Amino acid sequence: SVAVVASLNVDHIVRAPRIPEPGETLLGFSTSRELGGKGGNQAVAAARLGASVAVLGCVGQDEDGDEYRQALLAEGVDVTHVRRSASPTGRAAITVDAEGVNSIVVVAGANADIPADAAETAISDLPELRVVVGQLEAAVAATERAFATARARGVLTVLNTAPADDVAVKLLPLSDVVVSNEIEFRQLTGQDPFDADGVRRGSAELFAAGCHWVIVTLGAEGCAVLDASSSTQVPAVAVRAVDTTAAGDSFVGALAARLAEIPGEPTTADVVDACGFAAKVAAVVVTRHGAHPSLPTLAEVIDA
Ligand code: ADP
Repeated sequence: SVAVVASLNVDHIVRAPRIPEPGETLLGFSTSRELGGKGGNQAVAAARLGASVAVLGCVGQDEDGDEYRQALLAEGVDVTHVRRSASPTGRAAITVDAEGVNSIVVVAGANADIPADAAETAISDLPELRVVVGQLEAAVAATERAFATARARGVLTVLNTAPADDVAVKLLPLSDVVVSNEIEFRQLTGQDPFDADGVRRGSAELFAAGCHWVIVTLGAEGCAVLDASSSTQVPAVAVRAVDTTAAGDSFVGALAARLAEIPGEPTTADVVDACGFAAKVAAVVVTRHGAHPSLPTLAEVIDA
């Protein structure tokens, strides 16, 4: 099974001709409200693809929190470890431009309140756990403890270094697989993600910090998968993108779902294969609007 130490946010989305400049007011096309958050998206992505998924998270004692819990339950996700705190449920303000490119502000709220000891208990107790996923939107201390507990159990840890934040450095020694997009990779390593030598040099730093595989996602350019001695390009699937929201999240969820099917420690070939699957899933996601509504089932990925 897969456990996700997850941010659970309600997204408030506006569609506009372009992203506004600082100080500018712009007339947009439409607004919507959807469930999102990187962790929640990753968990739902993995569940729709058939993985058995548990969420470690925290929502507020508010209607958004009730709604998110119910939505996870409806996806078949184990919500035993979703807690409630006095802070409001996390929220994101998202602007999507006419090309489908988004810009996002997230306020963590209850996501910052996941207790580290509860994360440890959950990771110790979950049966047949194979993969633990974390990102940087949920409480970092809880993610750290979850990863340390997973490591002690021989469970694979997958860190998505999103959103870009130096706190990722703290988690690298506990992460088996590190997934960074171009912006995050540049911030984390100071290297150019579109230059093969830059990717190798930057990844070498991450390997030195303790991880075993680095995956650099490059949007429509696909991704690079590296271990300490090799680098493999996995192309994206050519599609007409309308909204890239949740592209990276679906990629991480799909990667985790696939890696959870591998008994024991994966090989680099397994990780490359899982990235090929994740690219197929993300290609479906970018042809649809929104976060949860865009996440495909396994059947939809096979038919695409
Ligand atoms: P993020 O959403 O975190 O910025 P990326 O944009 O790098 O992440 O996208 C993650 C993955 O999603 C890519 O590696 C690719 O497989 C897929 N993807 C993203 N954008 C496109 C696109 N325009 N066309 C096809 N696949 C895409």
